[in-house]
Amino acid sequence: MDFSGIIGQQEIIGNLKRQLVEDRVGHAYIFSGPAGMGKKTIAHIFAGILLCENPQAGAMCGRCKACMLFENESNPDFHTIAIQEELSIGVDRIREIQSDVAIRPMYSKRKVYIVEDAVKMTDQAQSCLLKTFEEPPHYVVVILLADNYEKLLETIRSRAQHLQFKRYTHAQVSQALTERLGSENALIELAADYCDGNIGTALELAGSSDFSRLRNRLFELLPGIAKGRTQEILDYTAFLEDERDNADLLLDIMQLYYRDLLVMCETGNENMLINSDKKVMIKNNARTCCGSGLVSDIEAIGEVRRALKQNANYQLAIDNMLIKLREVY
Ligand SMILES: [Zn+2]
Repeated sequence: MDFSGIIGQQEIIGNLKRQLVEDRVGHAYIFSGPAGMGKKTIAHIFAGILLCENPQAGAMCGRCKACMLFENESNPDFHTIAIQEELSIGVDRIREIQSDVAIRPMYSKRKVYIVEDAVKMTDQAQSCLLKTFEEPPHYVVVILLADNYEKLLETIRSRAQHLQFKRYTHAQVSQALTERLGSENALIELAADYCDGNIGTALELAGSSDFSRLRNRLFELLPGIAKGRTQEILDYTAFLEDERDNADLLLDIMQLYYRDLLVMCETGNENMLINSDKKVMIKNNARTCCGSGLVSDIEAIGEVRRALKQNANYQLAIDNMLIKLREVY
């Protein structure tokens, strides 16, 4: 196992590999960034290489006892702490680590601990972990995975190497999805656009029946709204009410629909469409649109998004948007 299959995060991987090759690995790391950025995968590979008895150029040898146990998820020198039923990681779990830390490694030169959802550690748990951070036995490496770096105690942060995971580019997301789902999956390019640089989200979207269903239904309804057709407007209002829980996704889909109409109006280039499987429909609808009206539509959707973030009344926000989507034609 090595880093060669990882897409993106090359700066972080380069940094970790240099530390491995130059034998200057630290005792405490914080991998921060939103879920879906590869924190867990990269931490796992790093741990495997740290434990290998005979690592080669930043990769596990795959043959030693430590490697074989690691690949069977039964290496006693490797521990993962994750939240299960409970909502937080309490001091008891950290104490367990601490008593284990005191025991020397069995097969490797090191012992590695990964704390998933490290921000779920209570303050007491973090303070407890601090003791290990302050006086770590030479063989210990602790990796904290955190979606929000700021939520960790300053004392913890100041004693760990911070590696911040970056959002993926469109090309990286679509490459990752193609590798996992096969190139014939029609939703890959779309998911890559909708996912905000997050491979985890993109995978979810590409495999989500909701995503296709919501998009298909919206694409049936939206053209009628622009034309002010009463039935579609009523259906649309009812649909948005029923799908209130998916509001974010609905707004994303709408925004990209109007974005495509705008691209079609302004450039006439169908190769630039994100909803590339709906080219014909978008071309037809773009004929009756004007650029400035579409810009207002996109702004109206942005306004709803902001209003909902500030806990505005859902129905009111949606109704306001609907008025604006209609009045520009
Ligand atoms: Zn090995």
